[in-house]
Amino acid sequence: MVAVSKNGPALRKNRKINVPFDFVFPTNPEYRAKILEYIEDLGSADIQGVTLNICHFPDEECCVCPRCVDLWLQSGLNWTDWRAQIITGFLKEAKNLVKNTFAVQMFPDQVLAKERFGIDFEAIAPLVEYFHVPLSSRDYFTNYWVDLLARDFL
Ligand SMILES: [Zn+2]
Repeated sequence: MVAVSKNGPALRKNRKINVPFDFVFPTNPEYRAKILEYIEDLGSADIQGVTLNICHFPDEECCVCPRCVDLWLQSGLNWTDWRAQIITGFLKEAKNLVKNTFAVQMFPDQVLAKERFGIDFEAIAPLVEYFHVPLSSRDYFTNYWVDLLARDFL
């Protein structure tokens, strides 16, 4: 279920890679179905909308599990475009299940979002009411933005 890189699973405890969270998404069919089922159930609740959190790949070399590599090869797309299509496609499916406000939380990487995370802001923007940009307090240890800035400058 966990996304995989050539240096092992996309888990915080894997010190060969640097990921701020443990990542399951996005091509595991059972996981996708569960999330979509949950979103559909929310449709009967009295809520203002749905904001999905961290719906993207952990980093540019993920995911290289056999399922993802097969899907990528079947797509005929390059690696970056295929990964963006996976993310945008999932968000389209999710949006179709939401009756009111739909939004996503995304890393605000202006330079490498598509290459690293499969986030295609241009393609996702028409699907959402807004992008929720996660900002961390000074005592929050998940300082993902330090990694974003360092990579973007590099
Ligand atoms: Zn995979």
